Amino acid sequence: MIHVEQHGPVLAIRMSRSFLGRPFWWTAAYWVDGILIDAGPSTTAPELLRALNRVHVDQIVITHGHEDHVGGLAQLHARYPQATIYAGPRTLPLIEEPAKIKMQNYRRILWGYPRTFRDLVSLDKVNNQIKSPNFCLRVVETPGHSPDHITFFEPTQRWLFCGDAFISGRDDSWAPEYDMFGVISSLRTLASLHPERIFPGDGQVSRTPLPELHEKIGQLLRLAREVARLDAAGQTVPEMVAHLFSRESTMNFWTWGHFSAIHLVEACRSYNAIFAPLDDAAHPPAASSETDETTNSSDSSTNWSTDWGDMMR
Ligand SMILES: [Zn+2]
Repeated sequence: MIHVEQHGPVLAIRMSRSFLGRPFWWTAAYWVDGILIDAGPSTTAPELLRALNRVHVDQIVITHGHEDHVGGLAQLHARYPQATIYAGPRTLPLIEEPAKIKMQNYRRILWGYPRTFRDLVSLDKVNNQIKSPNFCLRVVETPGHSPDHITFFEPTQRWLFCGDAFISGRDDSWAPEYDMFGVISSLRTLASLHPERIFPGDGQVSRTPLPELHEKIGQLLRLAREVARLDAAGQTVPEMVAHLFSRESTMNFWTWGHFSAIHLVEACRSYNAIFAPLDDAAHPPAASSETDETTNSSDSSTNWSTDWGDMMR
């Protein structure tokens, strides 16, 4: 299943596998001025190629080495052999040797297994900038969702092509490899660029990115603070999950436990531990230095229950 939307000169191409006619977990690629940002999964590559029929592709850039962003590269290269394909130096090994992505079975079913692909240029070789006739994309390091994650910033338009560094909606389950310190630091980096528009990896293009970025930072900091409070009260992680989320979301079921509220709580505990006094690890801090952003939202509910609809859009 594929949807194409025009946002000024940018084409937003949303892709999803469908089951029983329903889309399941959207991912996105974007096209502007001959540049394709991300390559989508291999399962929807034929549809992506059809969606690109009306335009030319001269350059392809990759935000990070997950299969729903790199899986279509081999098919794209076959169609556009003249196009130069760029990725960050930490992403290159994942594309060249897909076993390093360490995909769970549900990911193979949803997005397919990427073919090995080696015809890439490191973004280091072009000083971390990609130029087209009318625009210039600058690389911004945004680790957290994955260690290799980068964002592309167009400074004159103030566009952010941010991959999975920002996904709208409230988080209720995380994969165990996500790094909360990296996620929050990267969101702050994106906010500091004062974007006019954000083009994220789920295809939910936003015209009001700055308040949404601050809202997301606030949500995560409030959650970390709640976890610190419950930790100090002696609650176990399963007790915290029950207190904050009532129960695991259906995403936990569909991903066979890869996404879990437990992992999110553990990520909060790791984040809090960074700020714990070295001589007082038994008393986690209340993330008090973060109050400016935690108060941006009026929602102070302790129940973190959530919006499973985010995944099904
Ligand atoms: Zn990803």
